[in-house]
Amino acid sequence: MDFFEDGKQVLSQLTHYLDESVNKGKPVIRQKSIAQIHQSLDLETHLQQGGLKGEGLGRFLESYLANTTRLHHPGYLAHQVGVPHPTGALGSLIDGFTNNVMAIYEMGPAAAAIEFFMVNYLLARIGWEKMPTKMEDRLSYAHGAGILTHGGSMANMTALLTARNHLDNRVREQGNPGDMVILAPDTSHYSVAKTASIIGIGVKNVIPLKTDDLGRIRVETVAKTIEETLGENRRIIAVVANACATGTGLYDPIDEIGDICNEKQIWLHIDGAHGASALFSKKRKKLLAGIQRADSLIIDAHKMLRTPAVCAALLVKKAHSLDHIFDHQASYIFHEKKQPGFDFIAQTIECTKAGLGLKFFLSFAALGEKGMADYIDDQTELALKAYEYIRTQPDFNTPYRPESNILCFRYEGPNEIQLFIRDNLIDQGNFYISSTDIGKLRYLRIVCMSPATTFRDIKLLIEAIRKITASCQV
Ligand SMILES: *Cc1c(COP(=O)(O)O)cnc(C)c1O
Repeated sequence: MDFFEDGKQVLSQLTHYLDESVNKGKPVIRQKSIAQIHQSLDLETHLQQGGLKGEGLGRFLESYLANTTRLHHPGYLAHQVGVPHPTGALGSLIDGFTNNVMAIYEMGPAAAAIEFFMVNYLLARIGWEKMPTKMEDRLSYAHGAGILTHGGSMANMTALLTARNHLDNRVREQGNPGDMVILAPDTSHYSVAKTASIIGIGVKNVIPLKTDDLGRIRVETVAKTIEETLGENRRIIAVVANACATGTGLYDPIDEIGDICNEKQIWLHIDGAHGASALFSKKRKKLLAGIQRADSLIIDAHKMLRTPAVCAALLVKKAHSLDHIFDHQASYIFHEKKQPGFDFIAQTIECTKAGLGLKFFLSFAALGEKGMADYIDDQTELALKAYEYIRTQPDFNTPYRPESNILCFRYEGPNEIQLFIRDNLIDQGNFYISSTDIGKLRYLRIVCMSPATTFRDIKLLIEAIRKITASCQV
């Protein structure tokens, strides 16, 4: 059968690719131009001729893989995109093949049931009540709810829409009255501002919460900002806090912010796209102390949970709020069909929605809870060890002790040299790192994501940086 033969081609190449990446057999990154890649992939010819399969498919894949950025490589230290577990990647394949777009239960009972399970699994981790599996029991007691989305930006938008409609459900019909604001630190992910623009709140109505030098919310100012905002007759959709911030990997003080928001009955949304993974680590869970006081939380499984992109979860404390996000009447109330399962469709911005739960579940199940916790701890320990090392180097400095697997540091010198270093590292192809601003200073930034990265790689990175700076006269 063609499919089976094609599959063998693909799997054998991917297995080799994984091996080559982990063992640094190829550069972590190599960027040819669009035109060069078009040419090496011979796209035009393949389209015209059709029948791309068997060994032809194998050769095509070889060229494709030669132009990929290798996330499994020990030198992959740039972004927070997860290093997918191979079993999770098979989940992507199964999902693509079966195409069970599960937002209505009948289009994918297994996919929908797994999503339901994973949502409940996350709810329980947070300390919120799980959803009943029997639909007739829904809302018969206070419980949480959630949904998987195509990414954290979509999850943040769904969360803030839920919060907005919870505050004033008439807006869905009548449009935005113009007095609504979101309070968020300026270190919040740009998807928060994007949401404000998309849902008609306006970016200028994202009111900044005061932050310290490292961009963390200054908790002692939160109550005052809330009061001032309300005093100007503006209604607050939500307070948004980072767990953790994208740039620095530092956590906002959730517990205390939670107290204030609960007392003032303001919706608290936690952006845990990257750092809510600490929920799965006994050692790191304290960073999320007070999380159950929030009203909503997002987490990207495709960041620290080894799941292929894209897969995020939005969780809410009160199912009621999410059930009514788009409609007064939730779907399970007005269905006229026999309903053995749950239709997520009433809660999603998306309509056709992939069975994201499968790859999430498979990535998790391949590692198991302990394996997942070890992964998260190992990556964070590595960032800490890197910090301890780099801070003792006379030509480098580090602005803070990392709380996650994200670490920022600077080579002695102006902002320009940091970018010069990064560009050169990428050209060389042994290390792929990113960079970020903290205040007015530009930093180099590493995110320890690949399980293959060791402390020795960090030392090699520092050596490579020194070689680059020695070769230039900046
Ligand atoms: C990555 C990230 C997001 C956006 O998630 P996507 O899946 O990339 O859309 C939102 N918030 C934070 C804090 C993030 O780190």
